[in-house]
Amino acid sequence: MTPLETEIREMIASDGPMPVARYMALCLGHPRHGYYMTRDPFGARGDFVTAPEISQMFGELVGLWAATVWQVMGSPDDVRLVELGPGRGTLMADALRAVTVVPAYRAALSVHLVEVSPVLRRRQHDTLTGLGVPIDWHSDVAEVPDGPMIAIANEFFDALPIRQAVKQTDGWHERMVGLDDERRLTFALHPAPVRGLDAALPPRIRAAPVGVLCEWRSDEPVAGMARRIVASGGAALVIDYGHIESGVGETLQAVAGHGFADPLSAPGEMDLTAHVDFRALGRTAASEGASVFGPLAQGEFLRRLGIEERARMLRSRAIGAQGEQVERALTRLTDGGPKGMGELFKAIAFAHPRLGPLPGFDT
Ligand code: SAH
Repeated sequence: MTPLETEIREMIASDGPMPVARYMALCLGHPRHGYYMTRDPFGARGDFVTAPEISQMFGELVGLWAATVWQVMGSPDDVRLVELGPGRGTLMADALRAVTVVPAYRAALSVHLVEVSPVLRRRQHDTLTGLGVPIDWHSDVAEVPDGPMIAIANEFFDALPIRQAVKQTDGWHERMVGLDDERRLTFALHPAPVRGLDAALPPRIRAAPVGVLCEWRSDEPVAGMARRIVASGGAALVIDYGHIESGVGETLQAVAGHGFADPLSAPGEMDLTAHVDFRALGRTAASEGASVFGPLAQGEFLRRLGIEERARMLRSRAIGAQGEQVERALTRLTDGGPKGMGELFKAIAFAHPRLGPLPGFDT
């Protein structure tokens, strides 16, 4: 049993079953035993690989996207480039390197990294110091100093806690993590329906038959960012895996060693994620007054930003096996199907209402 499982069993024994969201938050962010708090999970020897770790092209194109947004904003001489959940700092390093071609933008930048994990903060520090741009760390995007910002979040929102409820004859009952007769972790439904949930759900989900499961996240992280952008200017780009339309069904998954696992089997030692509901994200940003662009499949987004031309250029300069690596990365980042990220992953942006069109979303 993992040390976190011992703690969670004790919590449930004394306070009763906990919502799936609380379980997920503990598994990922428990100060001593949380998955992200104790390790660097990325790379071939880690648990999973993300787009910026697959190829430098991803961070470069996102970096140039942000530089173009800065120009669309009227090239302000002071802008915060914010990244939520920067992992190893790879995306930001590639983004900063790519924009040396826009020196006025680079000079206007301060970088703000929103990161909870002390291990990953150290890693980001090692990757990014010495690049000639001021960098600050924050635990929450609300701590980023006031002013115009361009925010980037790749594979961040999927790690935010998800709530789940199952439709019963008398309403939606929240799915909880409790203990079975042998004190093992198990899923169980709360005896009373979640108050107000039915009215808040889109009509298609509300009409679902008994037994159907739905998932949702707190609107606050997106709403807070959108409010700031509407008040002080700027834009945000969110890339993640998920669905364009809000739907029903479970997407909570545990990943360890590049394979799927039981979400209750080793708390704190596996990554727990769930699909991002892009429709809900866009709705939240729009309800705060932001303009919303997309969602759009990642493959299409990257092609519009010029990934094929960039790959061609890298291939022409490649030595030995590098050319093949560029080709494989291009396929992985843009292709549909089970092996590619091109269709499963989506991009969405929201911005100050007077800003636009935004690169990649304008055709
Ligand atoms: N963007 C990176 C890493 C994605 S993994 C990449 O594409 O490679 C998720 C990242 O979000 C990690 O850096 C993790 O430590 C961080 N994270 C998870 N939950 C967080 C939270 N609530 N607040 C801030 N950072 C969080």
